[in-house]
Amino acid sequence: MTAAVTVRVPGKVNAGLVVGGLRRDGFHELSTLFTTVSCYDELTFTPAPRLRVTVSGPAADGVPADKSNLAAKAAVLLAARHGLDAAVNIHILKRIPTLGGMAGGSADAAAALVGCDALWGTGLDYTELSLLAAELGSDVPFCLLGGAALGWGRGELLEPLETAAPYHWVFAVADSGLSTPAVFAALDGRRKSAGLPTAAGAVPAELPSGLVRAFRGGDPRRLADELVNDFEPVALKLRPSLAETREAGLKAGALTGLLSGTGATYAFLADGAEGARAVAEGLSASGTCASVRVTQGPVPGPSIISYY
Ligand code: ATP
Repeated sequence: MTAAVTVRVPGKVNAGLVVGGLRRDGFHELSTLFTTVSCYDELTFTPAPRLRVTVSGPAADGVPADKSNLAAKAAVLLAARHGLDAAVNIHILKRIPTLGGMAGGSADAAAALVGCDALWGTGLDYTELSLLAAELGSDVPFCLLGGAALGWGRGELLEPLETAAPYHWVFAVADSGLSTPAVFAALDGRRKSAGLPTAAGAVPAELPSGLVRAFRGGDPRRLADELVNDFEPVALKLRPSLAETREAGLKAGALTGLLSGTGATYAFLADGAEGARAVAEGLSASGTCASVRVTQGPVPGPSIISYY
């Protein structure tokens, strides 16, 4: 019997995020370019009398250690599909900032699908796991896929994307996150008060074609001109201090800065590894963020790093 499975899973940044209208099912149409980045959670799955979650690590604050944890929900869903009890101990070593728009919860859910599938020997293939992933949340299918991809629908319809070279991203983590539903609501409110339509179909969600071309090319200087996140003006309004974070990253030499997902983390695109180090130093010294992560990506999705 398998005694323990450990899975390493990366966070992500949206190099492009265009938000369309609100659908009847309550989700917004999205068009996005996802890329994983080398900031990882590590989850260890061991057999236990019943489901249990423990969390440690630098980003553990605010992560629920109970059945509401997305990794636990993934384990319960997978177990239910096989008529099993989710009798597993899940330990999460948390490094991906929580509520930072880096999909930390979704990444853990993807890791739990992979880890529990290995622990229980349920042997699902990637397509079967990705169907379960879509039930768990909009970002979970991408977190399961890894690498980089274009995403449509509510973000769950994916087309993998290659790049000629990895990019260097530096993250300025805020001392508290922004709630994803609050940011979506603020964007709709802003559109309504400007007299713009808000319904799906009336608001196109299309990424600029230059963004996809630039991303494939692997040149960070070209990519920097194309990055887009529709949530950025809304997040700056909800959290005006983010403007200072942005300024500090640019002053430290970042090619550009971009709100990460729905925030409140800011992502900076750097010119190579050395550029990234300088941006990280400048941000750390600026006092405009709680912590800094230096990463590169795309990187592979969830991988089993220990199995015995
Ligand atoms: P996204 O980029 O997908 O919008 P996010 O980075 O803004 O996500 P998460 O870090 O995924 O947000 O956390 C969202 C919420 O989910 C938090 O309020 C947290 O309490 C809860 N949560 C449940 N499970 C987890 C988990 N395993 N890791 C982090 N947060 C979790």
